[in-house]
Amino acid sequence: MSEAGSGARPMHDVVVVGGGAVGLLLGCLLARRGLDAVVLERRHAPDPAATPSRAIGIHPPGLRALAAAGVGDEVRRRAVVIRDGRVTCDGRTLGRLRFPRSGMVHSLPQLEVEALLEERIDGARTVSLRRGVEVTGVTDRGTHLVVHAVDGDAKLDVPARYAVGADGVRSGIRSLIGADWRPRRGRASYVMCDTRDDTGAPETALLHFEPAGVVESFPMPGGRRRWVARVRREPAELDAAAIATVVESRTGSSFDTDAATSPTAFVAAQHVAHPMSSGRVALVGDAAHEISPIGGQGMNLGWSDAVHLDRELAAALAAAAPIDVFAAYDRSRRAAALRATRQAAFNMRMGAPATGVRLRTRNAAVRVLGLPGLRGVLGRAFTMQWL
Ligand SMILES: Cc1cc2nc3c(=O)[nH]c(=O)nc-3n(C[C@H](O)[C@H](O)[C@H](O)COP(=O)(O)OP(=O)(O)OC[C@H]3O[C@@H](n4cnc5c(N)ncnc54)[C@H](O)[C@@H]3O)c2cc1C
Repeated sequence: MSEAGSGARPMHDVVVVGGGAVGLLLGCLLARRGLDAVVLERRHAPDPAATPSRAIGIHPPGLRALAAAGVGDEVRRRAVVIRDGRVTCDGRTLGRLRFPRSGMVHSLPQLEVEALLEERIDGARTVSLRRGVEVTGVTDRGTHLVVHAVDGDAKLDVPARYAVGADGVRSGIRSLIGADWRPRRGRASYVMCDTRDDTGAPETALLHFEPAGVVESFPMPGGRRRWVARVRREPAELDAAAIATVVESRTGSSFDTDAATSPTAFVAAQHVAHPMSSGRVALVGDAAHEISPIGGQGMNLGWSDAVHLDRELAAALAAAAPIDVFAAYDRSRRAAALRATRQAAFNMRMGAPATGVRLRTRNAAVRVLGLPGLRGVLGRAFTMQWL
């Protein structure tokens, strides 16, 4: 740790604002390089009750990022592998998805992955996580930044060479750097709950492309399964029974509502920040892009951002580069985010309510893509294989 001027507070290499899935992973990567960083997180503790696990799907690039952070083996040990998928409509199978061996999706709740990353940071020598600290502003002093924060009643000024906004979809850092939050195509309402898996297909994703809207279900560890259904509007009473009724009326399948936890409704929307960096500050994860959860890419894309940013930060610190070090990061991550929004918008269109010619055309397209020689294509449409 160096000093910010005579008698000043110690200067960090990097301050990461936000200790969610992406900020924690970036902290682990910086620790592996021996860089001096602090992750500031406003929550005092992870709160499973307030935050039912959002992500479960870990795609191949996400798994590589977790391996680089040092938790890949433990994630593999705890996760279930989703080996294949089946697309149906009105009880008939339209196609099967096959994931390449190197490209299988793992399923593990986000909260569990975050706990593993936090444990890793706790054991790190040069990186720490400070909980209960809310960042309120950033001042550029030319040679470095000062990140302003509050810790209870105390005000903190934290000097650093660079700052990273990993503060989620409502990012304050994004506003501070004056970035636009540009909407992208793809918006719809969904309900979701996790329950016991009684499907008899514990390693298979089931995608029901029904006329009234998609119902999807995915394996989870511990013999559980996540159900997600597209709805025109959120049911007046959101409980597991309401979701079970939607699922049963569309697919004929039922699940045990007594074993269900955390019914949730969410509006899937998409935005990309422009720019994703300014001077000594860069955005990562949901602060940089909101990707529809349909297709399950947001967290994985955020981890890929972190892998790229870790390299850029190390190079910038080694070269003592003063400003605008994130130009290449900005260009390449915006391209990746736009690509992810297009893929998610495609997945959402496939699951929209459809009747008549539209339904027949969609079913015919899935049948063609589900032919034995093309199954890999269908698999790739529903997984993220690139960084
Ligand atoms: C229903 C649902 C299902 C999903 N499923 C998947 C999936 O299967 N696969 C996938 O890849 N993605 C999925 N996602 C998306 C995924 O959850 C997000 O992309 C991911 O949480 C983003 O992580 P993050 O660290 O960027 O942001 P967050 O997880 O939102 O973390 C941001 C952190 O910053 C902190 N913070 C905010 N402001 C401040 C401040 N001023 N000072 C200090 N701390 C601050 C917050 O407290 C928070 O802890 C899903 C999302 C939803 C809603």
